[in-house]
Amino acid sequence: MTYEELAQLIFPEISVSIDDLEKKYPPRNLPIGAEVTRFAPSPTGFLHTGSLFTSMICHKLAKQTNGVFYIRLEDTDTKREIEGSGLRLLEEMHQFNIVPDEGYLGDHQIGSYGPYVQSQRADIYKVCIKYLLSKGLAYPCFCTQQDIDELRQAQEANKILPGYYGPFAKCRGLTIDEAAELIKQGKPFVIRFRSNGNHNNKIKVSDLIRGTFSIAENDQDIVIYKSDGLPTYHFAHICDDHFMRTTTVIRGEEWISSLPIHLQLFEAMGWKPPMYAHVPVIMKIDENGNKRKLSKRKDVEASVSYFLDDGYPSEALIMYLMTIVNSNFEEWIFQNNFKNMQDFQFSFDKMSLDGALFDIVKLQFFAREILSRKTKHEMLDMALEYAKNHDSRLLYFINLNHGYFMDIINIEREVENPRKDYYKFGGILDLIGFFYHEIYDAQFNLDAFNPNIDKTIIKETLSDLKSLDANLSNEEWFTKMKEIGEQHGFAPNNKTYKANKDAYKGHVGDVAEMLRIALTNKKNAPNLYYVMKVLGKNESNRRIDKVIKSL
Ligand code: GLU
Repeated sequence: MTYEELAQLIFPEISVSIDDLEKKYPPRNLPIGAEVTRFAPSPTGFLHTGSLFTSMICHKLAKQTNGVFYIRLEDTDTKREIEGSGLRLLEEMHQFNIVPDEGYLGDHQIGSYGPYVQSQRADIYKVCIKYLLSKGLAYPCFCTQQDIDELRQAQEANKILPGYYGPFAKCRGLTIDEAAELIKQGKPFVIRFRSNGNHNNKIKVSDLIRGTFSIAENDQDIVIYKSDGLPTYHFAHICDDHFMRTTTVIRGEEWISSLPIHLQLFEAMGWKPPMYAHVPVIMKIDENGNKRKLSKRKDVEASVSYFLDDGYPSEALIMYLMTIVNSNFEEWIFQNNFKNMQDFQFSFDKMSLDGALFDIVKLQFFAREILSRKTKHEMLDMALEYAKNHDSRLLYFINLNHGYFMDIINIEREVENPRKDYYKFGGILDLIGFFYHEIYDAQFNLDAFNPNIDKTIIKETLSDLKSLDANLSNEEWFTKMKEIGEQHGFAPNNKTYKANKDAYKGHVGDVAEMLRIALTNKKNAPNLYYVMKVLGKNESNRRIDKVIKSL
């Protein structure tokens, strides 16, 4: 029997050839320099922050070169699949404006290089595996799990490199006729790649981030086709990257160790491999000051949904991640006033391998910069969007009166140096809830008043502060507050107070504090003049009266 006949025995239903596939999926007609990139998630869970980082680079490179960015769902490992996670990954990416030009889009697919879901490509892989079989570059393996376990134990006991390779690859030695006989008997089998490598040899590989480096050659006869009729990731993805005409594979550095296998598979198929960029894994400094990988189990920030659920602006996460991608981005985005990020020219040369440290404080800094530049209308839209999906209580209060919400959120916004109070929408009611009388009344308490100031004085001063009119300018208003304070024995400034403490009950800061506590129930709140303006005279005076009555 020949290898061709063995291939025919295993895949009698496959009549399509590699040439047919080459014609069906021809090289793309793109301008010179255009990059075809892909993000290839497995539907095994939520979108990891590291995956967002990778997909963002894939997207950016394709956009910047007028190329194509596509998404392929790698679902050949059916045991690990989590129902619905493919769609969810896509939806989450969408929220970061990482939208593919083609490929798997969650509920549908677009593009002529599909299908873009690996489990729907079984026949394509069979064509390729049939080809390898017919050349003797792959062979059926009948070893059971027990055989494999025993092999590994024996190798470990003898301190030999474990695996199915060279002399240990039992079924590699079967003759074509022996293999055919076992197949005819109905013995279950997988198909393995026949590696011609030697792990003592070093090969040179190139990476767009790391440059050229040496790595041990692959000698493992890896499984390329499982007994469930689907290929393994290693084999499936090289067929896909070839027929989908990927030019640059961008993926996590955990795949570097498999690169020798992948390059060998490309060679066996007679295909030119794409270029590779293995991006660093995102790390963090943990509680003990040690650097470690973001962990799905331990770190909330490992999951993109954490930021979405907490109402971080998605732009902030993308901008922040871009500072990790390229060291020159931070300066660039400052110069561009946090706008038009798409104009930034990304390059692999400026990607550092040890700088991928996740820093939530820096993310919050970006979020504050971004939110401070939004108009009140944009803030309303963002808050509504967030509240609809994540916070019904917030939604209730915003919907009481959109104009009122905008007045609150617009305090010292849309001015030259806007305040940077907000970095997320999650928990925003903790900051601004007091503007709503329901919340103010529910949280009403007198604990924050300075116990060193006599209550009667507080009451009398507050009573006069009711005459403050928010129609005055900010300066006039402040002057008036000072005057009222002076009438009640408070120094007009700290310096005067310090020079003669006994002559005063306190200073203007104490007056502002009592008014602040009366109006907001808090020691920290936005600029009081504006708080009063937003609350309006009636509500401000109602609050002051309530305090006077209760003190
Ligand atoms: N499906 C693989 C993963 O989820 C993709 C690896 C690759 O991009 O080649 O990690």
